[in-house]
Amino acid sequence: MKNIKDFSLEELKQEMQTLQEKPFRAEQIFKWLYEEKVKAFDEMTNLSLSLREKLKETYTICNYNIIKKQEAKDGTKKYLFDVLDGNAIETVLMQYHHGYSICVSSQIGCKMGCKFCASTGIKFIRDLTAGEIVEQIIAVEQDENIRISNVVFMGIGEPLDNYDNVVKAIRLINHPKGLNIGARHISVSTSGLVPKIYQLAEENIQCTLSISLHATNNQKRSSMMPVNNSYPIEELLQACKDYIAKTNRRISFEYALAKDNNDNLEDAKELVKLLKGMLCHVNLIPINSIENGIYTKASNENIIKFRDYLNEHGIVATIRRELGSDIDAACGQLRRKNIKK
Ligand code: SAH
Repeated sequence: MKNIKDFSLEELKQEMQTLQEKPFRAEQIFKWLYEEKVKAFDEMTNLSLSLREKLKETYTICNYNIIKKQEAKDGTKKYLFDVLDGNAIETVLMQYHHGYSICVSSQIGCKMGCKFCASTGIKFIRDLTAGEIVEQIIAVEQDENIRISNVVFMGIGEPLDNYDNVVKAIRLINHPKGLNIGARHISVSTSGLVPKIYQLAEENIQCTLSISLHATNNQKRSSMMPVNNSYPIEELLQACKDYIAKTNRRISFEYALAKDNNDNLEDAKELVKLLKGMLCHVNLIPINSIENGIYTKASNENIIKFRDYLNEHGIVATIRRELGSDIDAACGQLRRKNIKK
């Protein structure tokens, strides 16, 4: 059966016509799903009994069960959700002074193989559908009885490797009749799939694009991120420049600092040369070491020096606060967990 949360409003209107119902029923259903966040068609009390029966026969409402929920000392919460096919995904909720931010997964597993990331080395299983992505937000909002204000596609998976579902999910999250979260409060992070960056530039979505850069020359970047062999730095940065020209949106570059690898002032100098004049921001992430990993966190001193060098040379840079590291919920610590039923 089809997951009703996999449809856009327009598509659901079409579906209603196929069921010989009026298109406005789709709007009513959307309100129940995304405003009231009901878990069953029987709760949609302004729909006739016969329509509710038809809906039950045709669709499911994807509702996740929480397999596990952990809370870090800083209040960050990590959820392990049962995605209803024997697999599980992780989602992280963070609280900032400006509200709640959620880090969603876009795939079950990841194909990119970045050497510093805990999702690496685990088999890729499948893409998440748009409804499965959106459900992470609904499930957390319901569980905590909160309203989430920021969504980052920085959980497990490469969002642009699941392009259609991710773009659809963004539209559902952003739609005034969907979750109604402003596009500027949605960030998509990519390891650098160049053709998809060009495609995204054409979508006319005002979300923030984050690029996982992490190194300033191809040799180093390829050693950290195999994707660089397909899309080297020059091509990636050209795509970023074209993206900025097309969308007029600032790009955020992520740079995870690892000791004796990419954390000295020479790297900072190279980074300034690469990014000079671009409408961008650099997000410095103290790298989180993972089990059997080769990278360890840069020292605080080096991280601060690195940031200051960038700022003094015209590149706006901030250090990302580390949240949830004690429950393996920090950047790059998420792992796909397979549950056998
Ligand atoms: N696949 C996407 C999004 C998921 S990762 C991407 O690569 O951008 C989200 C961010 O966390 C990326 O910038 C990623 O490079 C970074 N990251 C991964 N592992 C990390 C680690 N161990 N320490 C710090 N950051 C990490």
